[in-house]
Amino acid sequence: MNRSFISVALAAMSLFATSCCNNAVEPSIPSDRQMERKIEKILKGLTLEEKVGQMTQITITAMHDGKELTPVADSMIRVHKIGSVLNTINSEAQTPEVWEKTVQELNRMSMEYIGIPCLYGLDHIHGTSYVAGGVLFPQGINIGATFNREHSYNMGVVTGYESRAANVPWTFSPTMDLGRNPEWPRMWESYGEDVYVNAEMAVAATRGLQGEDPNNVGPYNIAACAKHYLGYGVPVTGQDRTPASINPSELREKYFEPFKEVLQAGCLSLMVNSASNNGMPFHCNTELLTQWAKEDLNWDGMIVTDWADIDNLWNRERVASTRKEAVKLAINAGIDMAMVPYDCQFAIDLAELVREGEVPMSRVDDAVRRILRLKFRLGLFDTPDTFRENYPDFGGAAFEKMAYEAAVESQVLLKNNGILPLKKDVRILLTGPNADNIRTLNGGWSYTWQGDGAANPKFTEKYNTIYEALSEKFDNVTYVPGVEYIIEAPFVWMIDQANIKPAVAAAKNADVIIACIGENTYCETPGNDNTIALSENQRNLVKSLAATGRPVILVLNEGRPRVLNDIEGLASAVVDIMLPGNHGADALAALLCGEENFSGKLPFTYPKYTNKHAVYDYKPAESQGTMAGVYNYNAVMDVQWPFGHGLSYTTFEYSNMTVSATEFTSEDVLKVTVDVTNTGKVAGKESVLLFSTDLYASSTPDVRRLRAFDKISLEPGETKTVELEVTAKDLAFVNYYGKWTLEKGDFILSCGTEAVEIACTETVVWDTPNID
Ligand code: BGC
Repeated sequence: MNRSFISVALAAMSLFATSCCNNAVEPSIPSDRQMERKIEKILKGLTLEEKVGQMTQITITAMHDGKELTPVADSMIRVHKIGSVLNTINSEAQTPEVWEKTVQELNRMSMEYIGIPCLYGLDHIHGTSYVAGGVLFPQGINIGATFNREHSYNMGVVTGYESRAANVPWTFSPTMDLGRNPEWPRMWESYGEDVYVNAEMAVAATRGLQGEDPNNVGPYNIAACAKHYLGYGVPVTGQDRTPASINPSELREKYFEPFKEVLQAGCLSLMVNSASNNGMPFHCNTELLTQWAKEDLNWDGMIVTDWADIDNLWNRERVASTRKEAVKLAINAGIDMAMVPYDCQFAIDLAELVREGEVPMSRVDDAVRRILRLKFRLGLFDTPDTFRENYPDFGGAAFEKMAYEAAVESQVLLKNNGILPLKKDVRILLTGPNADNIRTLNGGWSYTWQGDGAANPKFTEKYNTIYEALSEKFDNVTYVPGVEYIIEAPFVWMIDQANIKPAVAAAKNADVIIACIGENTYCETPGNDNTIALSENQRNLVKSLAATGRPVILVLNEGRPRVLNDIEGLASAVVDIMLPGNHGADALAALLCGEENFSGKLPFTYPKYTNKHAVYDYKPAESQGTMAGVYNYNAVMDVQWPFGHGLSYTTFEYSNMTVSATEFTSEDVLKVTVDVTNTGKVAGKESVLLFSTDLYASSTPDVRRLRAFDKISLEPGETKTVELEVTAKDLAFVNYYGKWTLEKGDFILSCGTEAVEIACTETVVWDTPNID
């Protein structure tokens, strides 16, 4: 065995041995003594094989032939005592009845052979997407664009209820990676690029999913699993599951922060990032798994791997030279449950490692305690199963309405030269590969992993495509695709083919052209692409249509921002609907005709060039005027649309911004008020975003950071005073040496067109890893 592996493992073990509990910090989730006593009692009675079995999670496809559970299920539970199962049967959504029966049978075997219920988990990241008839919300990126926590919460509530209706108590959601690299094919799963937005939306989703008491998750709620811990959204190459290079200060200040918030809010489980950072795979990073998440936060939840990621320490990351050594590294680092997912070798290896003294029994006991705790918290020991008949609201109108409202608030009007809203009798030529496509409205994780399942009418017949929704709303809609995706191309979904001439011919009879362009659906690594540019066929379609002289409205239906600077200037209006879900088309139709008003804002920076990615909280050096003298360098931050950009059919004016103190110290809470007036002619909603700027700091500061937001509704002429809060600690940063720091000096707080200068009167450098 390689010596460096030994030292990593020993370091991992000693860390675990020396810092089991940080009693100085309040527990993230209040403890329940009675439950802990029950856990200890069960743990005492378990054999080593039963313990490692509990730590093993297997995919249903390994034990189900599409019709029923196979004898493999029985043997995996009876012989290997596996504690958890995931994934959907036959790789597509199933009816609640099928779920009820399947999970019930798994529970029956688990109770009979182990006396411990099974923990079933599904990827319900935007609603109940693996249960036929369940409600699908817009994807995370759209929820971010609403800047309205209520929608994230609602999604959680509905997903919790409907998952339980299908006898499923656990979901791998919220997805809260910071989508800061637009090339990354999972950008849309997150709430966008900002730390604070991801934290707030994930906390709201978790409350919705779990209810208010994480120790007693009731029958209408399920356990959340925040993922992917951490820094998954910034692979250097932009390709999925490739290495990141995040520096230690940013890792804590930006990437850890949202996870810290959601764990402190009681999120019961955590899934780990598949990739590596600066050479260290997250799955064997003791510091991040054991110290930061479990000890520093005094968090007693459970950490699960991502798909096959213990094996990947060996055969992909190459930090272990055997599969068994990978198990040792991961478990010693703090992994509690392995998403293996196909066989039980993990359990065999782990038991051997314990017998050989390579993994301490105390570590295994800690992991099993965390797993049992989750099962207790979910009430599975008392009630392993839940039944469809007790969930009358499943798939009902009230839930669908919530998804529709989220879709309305999530669509972003990026440009409007006055052409929108459209009159109902206008003659519309509807075109583009996304115009009559229910699949692209939903994106990945929709009935199937890659989202192609949404094209199956058995799941989505009752929902409208954009063509169907516009035809219901407008008198005169002609649809000519112009470009279509080659759907036979599995895993190369992005390929399209053009037939532009018929669309150009049809434009002659139209008053306006609506081009629905963007991407087909994809998920994870199959979504890797060689360019972030919008496809050439689609750009040519828009150019040819614009050449007819008819006004063109672009509707962007995409999971990541596709570069389109050569056609943006040809458009009279641009709407980014991103991935708005099954109600996205109805929402769009209502927005285009003015029955609803736009209120979404971009939760990411829309790039203008394929090679120039940016985030809103960039460093001052990235945007500088030309220097004097012969060395006339400059730096230009030239983006297509900035973070937070979004228009409305009305206008809002900001005035009278106040801050409760112009000088502050580290313990202060600053209260901010600002008046917002609807100065237009129609009612509208406005997300009020509060930014801070630290003018000078010992580590080069970000130009801006979002610190608070609130969404309000205003009638024409109405003014509301919005109250927001910023703590002095919110304005701290992690310095070069990894310490939270607040420095004496000037800051600017800004809201819309308003700004107030304030000053911190002391410098504080904290020694604790977290400052609240
Ligand atoms: C994904 C996770 C997902 C898991 C289980 C993995 O490939 O990265 O986000 O939760 O599969 O389906």
